[in-house]
Amino acid sequence: MAVPKHKASKARTRRRRVINSRLTLGTFRTCPNCGNTMVSHQVCPKCGFYRGKQILNPED
Ligand SMILES: [Zn+2]
Repeated sequence: MAVPKHKASKARTRRRRVINSRLTLGTFRTCPNCGNTMVSHQVCPKCGFYRGKQILNPED
């Protein structure tokens, strides 16, 4: 089994974690329907639109 040659510094570990957490969260963009900030490739939580279609009821 491979063993790490050097201990990873706190800065290095944190930097890696920040990048990975950003990747899993996805990028934020503004909704074309209501202008709300939302996660891309997901239904807008404010108006329920996705790719120009009403997916969810905004009152839910
Ligand atoms: Zn929206």
